[in-house]
Amino acid sequence: MADTAHFGAREVPLADKQALVDDVFHSVARRYDLMNDLMSFGLHRAWKDALVTAVDPSKNRPFALLDIAGGTGDVAMRVIAAGGAGTRATVCDINADMLAVGRERAAARGLGDAIIFTEANAEALPFKDKSFDAATIAFGIRNVPRIEAALAEAFRVIKIGGRFLCLEFSPVTVPGLDKLYDFYSFNVIPALGRAVVGDAQSYRYLVESIRRFPKPQDFAGMLRTAGFARVSYQLMTGGIVALHSGWRL
Ligand code: SAM
Repeated sequence: MADTAHFGAREVPLADKQALVDDVFHSVARRYDLMNDLMSFGLHRAWKDALVTAVDPSKNRPFALLDIAGGTGDVAMRVIAAGGAGTRATVCDINADMLAVGRERAAARGLGDAIIFTEANAEALPFKDKSFDAATIAFGIRNVPRIEAALAEAFRVIKIGGRFLCLEFSPVTVPGLDKLYDFYSFNVIPALGRAVVGDAQSYRYLVESIRRFPKPQDFAGMLRTAGFARVSYQLMTGGIVALHSGWRL
């Protein structure tokens, strides 16, 4: 039987998943950042702040970040703001529409060559071995069909002593909160998607894909298999989001 992958609640041929994911982000690109604020009540900013604090870009030495599945560049721009004058970020994403929004935002902020946007698949990064001080992926890994390949690639391009950080939604297990979260996710979020983007289906996929993503302890095991050391994770907001960390030592 051919390999399959989860596309939200559906099981699809592995080879078909990426095109389906790409349709989602083509559809939502222009309103992506607004929708993040609306859906999370602005909480995604706090989750990304925790990620940036962990990246801890140097204030006085050159620092090279790779933000994988970086979309509109939100995380990369936050890392640049937190770092010193020598901080540089490369945003890579498979979706040209998300990157186009990011380029416009970076130009409006006058970021110049501190940030570059590269169209690339997380499963086959067009970067040299050991070329980044840190690699991040925020709310991106669950969209990638071959997660193991993406983790191996992240490991390959991080310098020895560098860190990998992954922010991702996590299945909620707190009694009471799980019911509320399910109701909100399956009813309110698709309705918001319809109202703001004219597309409920893409947001239904995003919600369902969270349910299919591995539990934090299982994902930590995948990081170890990819070669990362000192693997750990921290749960935030009642376990809605997990910040995973691993080092290349
Ligand atoms: N990291 C950004 C953020 O936190 O705002 C964007 C996250 S968005 C939910 C997921 C992103 O993953 C989309 O921009 C999508 O195009 C990208 N993506 C999906 N599959 C990918 C792949 N195989 N390689 C690179 N990027 C991918």
